[in-house]
Amino acid sequence: MKGVFPESVDFIVTDKCNLHCKVCWGSEMPCYEEPGIIGRKDMIDIFYFDGVEKTVFTGGEPMVEESLPGILKHAKYRNMGTLLFTNCMLMDRKRADRIMPYVDAISISLDDHIEHLNDSARGNGHFRKVMHALDILKKYSSKVQVLTVVTSENRYSLRGIGNLLLEKTEGMDFGWKLNYYTRIGRSAKETHAESDPFYLEYSRFMEAVNDAENHFSGKIRINHSPPNHDYGYLFVFPDGNLYTTKKSEYICLGNVFDSRSWDKGAFRKIDRNIAERNSRWRDAK
Ligand code: SF4
Repeated sequence: MKGVFPESVDFIVTDKCNLHCKVCWGSEMPCYEEPGIIGRKDMIDIFYFDGVEKTVFTGGEPMVEESLPGILKHAKYRNMGTLLFTNCMLMDRKRADRIMPYVDAISISLDDHIEHLNDSARGNGHFRKVMHALDILKKYSSKVQVLTVVTSENRYSLRGIGNLLLEKTEGMDFGWKLNYYTRIGRSAKETHAESDPFYLEYSRFMEAVNDAENHFSGKIRINHSPPNHDYGYLFVFPDGNLYTTKKSEYICLGNVFDSRSWDKGAFRKIDRNIAERNSRWRDAK
């Protein structure tokens, strides 16, 4: 039975990351106290008993957190859906065997089909790690999503990326997410809008999306993001604090361990936005 939280929550497993992507929007996060694995499992229990269907494990880079396999296993024990966002820098066969049995879907970032262009946006070695991860993941039945942040630098690369993904994901349950580049977090802090080399008008973004959708029609399931993510997600931090984002601001909506602090009106708004996003994904061909 549905409770007060949205149908899915985004668990910030850690804000630590092993990359320093220029397009990162999550790097200016609120500070938090480190919990133990018990605290994290307790949070999952609260969401489970409230009726939350899916937990998204994100960060930072979730795989740098040693307790990740235990947390994922606990979410699966509660029969919740699990989606893991990762940059794949730590993905190898041993780690995959520890986590993938508890992952329903995995989302991997990739911003170009040309190695040095991808790595200039993401970090040295990232492209090869992603290619290796896609090979490793063939062994599992989890859904695979590749997430491309579309910017003024790579908007003409989408056909090339799509062709590469067609080859690398053959036989997999695969979808491609095209995200509009949003100037929040580090990107907003380190550059001015006028001189931001990644900035792209939303109309140009949609031209690139439409071209990719037409070109790969019937071959790749493609979804894209809206122009902004205001009240788009309920983020849960390791100390239990709950946030959403509006423009470049994190807005605190209470703490998961104190039901009197919960901003239920904001939770409902987030839930509606999630439902709208999911219906677009279902409609994507
Ligand atoms: S975009 Fe993701 S992988 Fe890149 S620095 Fe930010 S959190 Fe890390």
